Amino acid sequence: MELEVIIGLEIHAQVKTKTKMFCSCDNDAWGEEPNATVCPVCTGHPGALPVPNKKAIELGVKAALALGCNIPQYSKFDRKNYFYPDLPAGYQISQFDEPVSKNGSVEIILDGEKRKIGITRLHLENDAGKLTHSGNFSYCDYNRAGTPLMEIVSDPDIRSAKEAKLYAEEVQKILQFVDASNADMYRGEMRFDASISLRPVGDEKLYPRAEIKNLNSFKALEAALLHEISRQTEMWETGKPPASEQTVGWNDEKGETYLMREKESAADYRYFPEPDIPPLEFDEKEIEQWRKELPELPLPMRERFEKEYGVTQQESETLTSSKALASYFEEVVKISGDGKKSAGWLLSELLAKIKDSEDLTIETQKITAENLGNLVKLIVNGEISGKIGKEIFPEMWETGEAVEKIIERKGLKQISDTGEIEKLVDKVIAENPAQVAGFKAGKVQLLGFFVGNVLKLSGGQANPQIVNQLLKEKLQ
Ligand SMILES: [Zn+2]
Repeated sequence: MELEVIIGLEIHAQVKTKTKMFCSCDNDAWGEEPNATVCPVCTGHPGALPVPNKKAIELGVKAALALGCNIPQYSKFDRKNYFYPDLPAGYQISQFDEPVSKNGSVEIILDGEKRKIGITRLHLENDAGKLTHSGNFSYCDYNRAGTPLMEIVSDPDIRSAKEAKLYAEEVQKILQFVDASNADMYRGEMRFDASISLRPVGDEKLYPRAEIKNLNSFKALEAALLHEISRQTEMWETGKPPASEQTVGWNDEKGETYLMREKESAADYRYFPEPDIPPLEFDEKEIEQWRKELPELPLPMRERFEKEYGVTQQESETLTSSKALASYFEEVVKISGDGKKSAGWLLSELLAKIKDSEDLTIETQKITAENLGNLVKLIVNGEISGKIGKEIFPEMWETGEAVEKIIERKGLKQISDTGEIEKLVDKVIAENPAQVAGFKAGKVQLLGFFVGNVLKLSGGQANPQIVNQLLKEKLQ
C-alpha cells in the first residue's frame, strides 16, 4: 500500500516586546533568578486584571500580514481552561474562534520547486511558567508566565519531514525579518507542535493523528516526524492504523516518540470569551500603515539577489539567512560594484572565519561592510590580486584596519606597469629555454607554467592579465 504523509505544524514564537502580554513585567528574564519578573497578573492572583499589550498586538498583526493573512476587523481573547502547576490562573488567555488573523500562506522552495503551505491562523496568547523536577520536589518559576506568544497554525499541507523543517525555517526567517520575534530556538523563543497522520494515496479522508508536543529545534522536529512516519507506516502495514488521536512526546536521547495522553479536543478546554478584556477592533487605516511598514521578505529578497547580483540559489539562500547578513552583503556590493565576487568573499572568507570563532557574529566581528567592499573593489579593479587579498584578509579580521592602510604599509599594490612586468617576463623566458621550445612546438598548456613563474617572481604582485598578454605576445 502506498501511503501519503499529512503534517500540520503549530509554531509558538515569543513576541519581541519589552513587557509581558497582559501586565507590565519585564519580558526578558534571561539569566534572572526564578520568580524575579512576576506580578499578581502573571501569577494569576484572583482579582488581578489583565491589560493587553498594544505592541504585542501590533507585532502579531504585522507577522500575520507578512504571512499573507487576512486581519478581521474584530477579534477577541478567550480563556482556555486546564489545570497544570505551571499555569497559576488555571486558564491560559488565548484566542479561539475569532483570532487576530486567518487564511495566509508561506512559500518555500523544496528541491528547486516552489511549494505553498497554507496558514490557518495566527493568534496571540500568553505563555505558561516553567517547572523543574528534582528528587521529590517540583519547582515553579513564573518568569515565563505571561510572555506574549504568537501561535501560527498551518493547514495540513505538509507532505514530508524535510518540508516541515523548510517551512519552519522560512517562518522563523519571516518573523525575524519583520522584527516581530527573535525566534531564537536556543533561548526557547520558538517551539513546535507537529500533527501527523498517514493515509493511502488517493484517499481524501484524514485519519486520527498524533500530535508531537514541544519540539525545540529544527533537528528534533525533523527527527521526530521521521520516527513517527515509520512508526505509523508500520501500523498501517500490519493492518492496524492509529484508531484515536494521541498526544506524544519526543525523547531526543532515545530518538523516539512516547505516548503522553489521548489528545484533548477543543471541548475539553471549555473555551469561553475572556470577560476581563473587551474585544479588539482594528482600524483599516492602521492595518494599511502596518502593511506599508513591512520590510522586504526573505523569499522575494532571495529571488532579487539571484537576479540582480547573479549569485546562485544556494548563495542567495545563505545571504538572506538573516536580515543583518543580507544588509551587510548589499552594502559590500554597493561599494565593490560586483555582486558575485562580494558574495564569494563574504561567504567563503568572512562567514568561514565567523564560523570558526567562538562567539562572533556578522554584527560583532571587526570588518565593516565598507572595508570588505573596498577590498573586493581593489581586486575587481585589478589593483591587487585575489591572492594578495587573501593574504591581507586575516589582518583585516584580527584588527579591523582599513584595507588601503594595510596595502600601503606592506607595499602590496599590484604591479600594473607594463615595463616592469616585461622585465620579469623576459627573465622567465630566458631561464627556461626547454619550455619555450616546447610551447613553440605546440604545447600551449605550458603557458600556465610561465604565468605561474612570472607571478612568483613578482611576489604575487604582477597583474595576471598583463602577464598573460605579454607572455602570449613574446612566445609566439
Ligand atoms: Zn506580571
